[in-house]
Amino acid sequence: MSAIVIPAKGGIQGFPPSAPRPYRGRFAPSPTGPLHAGSLVAALASWLDARANGGTWLVRIEDVDTPRCVPGADEEILRQLAACGLVPDEPPVWQSDRTAHYEAALRELVAADRAYPCACSRKDIEQALLSRGLARGRHDELVYPGTCRNGLNGRVARAWRFRTAEGATDWEDRRLGPHSQDVAHEVGDFVLKRADGLFAYQLAVVVDDAAQGITHVVRGADLADNTPRQILLQRALGLPTPSYLHTPLVLGANGEKLSKQNGARALDLRDPPKALADAARVLGLRIEPGASAGECVAAATAAWAKTIAG
Ligand code: GLU
Repeated sequence: MSAIVIPAKGGIQGFPPSAPRPYRGRFAPSPTGPLHAGSLVAALASWLDARANGGTWLVRIEDVDTPRCVPGADEEILRQLAACGLVPDEPPVWQSDRTAHYEAALRELVAADRAYPCACSRKDIEQALLSRGLARGRHDELVYPGTCRNGLNGRVARAWRFRTAEGATDWEDRRLGPHSQDVAHEVGDFVLKRADGLFAYQLAVVVDDAAQGITHVVRGADLADNTPRQILLQRALGLPTPSYLHTPLVLGANGEKLSKQNGARALDLRDPPKALADAARVLGLRIEPGASAGECVAAATAAWAKTIAG
């Protein structure tokens, strides 16, 4: 599939030099398939930002959504990263090993009345919304109408939801600038633990970013929309909010974000320097594909350091 590249718009801001915690960044792939050109952009950007800031770079395998995981994809992603010279500074962490931590966070939220059980199926939610003439929210997702907020009325709990409070959540992205979202209105009380018993991405990512001391999240722009939900969870759990930078997306020929779901090809690692130079270009960095992956990432780090120095 030919790829259309959306170059980075404008500059990327650095972050205040007085940041109290030492820089720790991460790349957090879901092992639903091998890395493709789009995911390498996010991986490279998170690595470059950590290196340019003298920080630590981690890899976390986000395999909470087990039905979507592909056996062996985790090891393949780690091999692909290594072939590109992107080797984590600490051993990778697998979310499937961390269920007890998500359980503990959910218990804490329930104890503080910030989470509640929900008996609604998707169909129940659709019907409740239709009967109130309510529209769909962002990306055509259903805004939970709050049916179980005040109790299950004898119905059987299926999932657990976060109790959102009305009001805007403001945040600043280092590339995309200021953002604001009223999560209660635009998303509604979102799921923390699903009807199939699996923990939701939102809870897992917040618990793990805090546990790993992540100060800087650098990830694809398709995830920007999740940030206010994550900030609300951080506040409810008394956890620090990292700084956020969402990187440009690589679009497929159909104009959609390149993803494993729309058939993006696995990275061609016969020529890692070329793959890295392509990814760097998406980030607005012009580097010559060097002779080796190491030379490429060194050149990209210097270029990135200049960009964030403004
Ligand atoms: N696991 C998510 C993905 O692969 C990324 C999560 C994140 O970086 O916060 O899309």
